[in-house]
Amino acid sequence: MVHNFNAGPSILPKEVFQQASEAVLNYQNSGLSILEIGHRTSTFQAVMDEARALVKELMQLNDDREVLFLHGGASTQFMQVPMNLLDDKETAAYADTGVWGIKAIKEAKLFGKVEVVCTGKESNYTIIPKDFAVPNDSKYFHITTNNTIYGSQWQKIPKTSVPLVGDMSSDIFSRVIDFNSFDLIYAGAQKNMGPAGVNLLVVNPAILGKIKRAIPTIMDYRNHIKEGSMLNTPPVFAVYVCMLTLRWLKALGGVAAVEKLNDAKAALLYQEIDDNPLFTGTVTKEDRSKMNVCFVMNNPAQEEAFLSFTKQKNIVGIKGHRLVGGFRASLYNALPISSVEVLVQAMKEFAAQNS
Ligand SMILES: *Cc1c(COP(=O)(O)O)cnc(C)c1O
Repeated sequence: MVHNFNAGPSILPKEVFQQASEAVLNYQNSGLSILEIGHRTSTFQAVMDEARALVKELMQLNDDREVLFLHGGASTQFMQVPMNLLDDKETAAYADTGVWGIKAIKEAKLFGKVEVVCTGKESNYTIIPKDFAVPNDSKYFHITTNNTIYGSQWQKIPKTSVPLVGDMSSDIFSRVIDFNSFDLIYAGAQKNMGPAGVNLLVVNPAILGKIKRAIPTIMDYRNHIKEGSMLNTPPVFAVYVCMLTLRWLKALGGVAAVEKLNDAKAALLYQEIDDNPLFTGTVTKEDRSKMNVCFVMNNPAQEEAFLSFTKQKNIVGIKGHRLVGGFRASLYNALPISSVEVLVQAMKEFAAQNS
């Protein structure tokens, strides 16, 4: 068995892969693949309807929230959000908590003004900023709820008087938060939900239609809402696999149940990082991510050896992002705690042999 700690695309439930592969060959005994039926058939409409309904149910969304599955990655939303929400004389507030936030800021500047109200830059993004104010006249405030590359996470969602926008690509459906405190949520699917190529978008329609810019048809959220997330051909397979993952999550007991498992996995690994004399966590304790656990070796010269040691134990995907170095173990929803136990055991054994 391979222990898959990849950061994204990343692990999904085995049964989802099984069901998805069957659907590619023969969808519900129709003699046709899920890939060769029209997206406007009742067969695919049922998939889209169920996927949207499961999102609403699992996130306990208010009735007014709209759920869309849109083409592209989270990076597409870096520009589509300001294109829909920000006029060129207006200002949006952004939190700079690392690479993805910075990329979102860069795109927003193409559409309006950006005020970076807080940054973790001075600490090399090892903290989530705490003391900051969001000006009341900001059009919206954008945060990255989990910083995939640095391994930091907003443990408390900030309260603001302006619409809150969240990039939840790497912690969507991983923990219970008040999803309704956000007016717009987006997430690329490939970290905790499904295959790459589709974005989940949850939006409060009341924040739309408040700018003067002409928005290209396919970029305008309102058109997607009007057409029930079927403005054009959706990424049908990606949506189908997301639906299977959401079904799996519901059967598991929903977000609260998976949060318990995620808490246990993260606690186990951070405990070992803190106890083991060879390793150090890179993020300040209170801001540590439960999805992406980043750590280094106190003697960097040992890192290559540890990496090949873990490779022999079928542990994959723990090499840190090139910007941070060291190691990153991603503990997404579908990763079993037994894989974390194998990694922790490997750290113990390596320390015993190399201290
Ligand atoms: C991976 C990731 C992205 C980029 O996603 P793409 O689908 O590759 O565009 C953006 N934000 C966060 C938080 C991510 O983890």
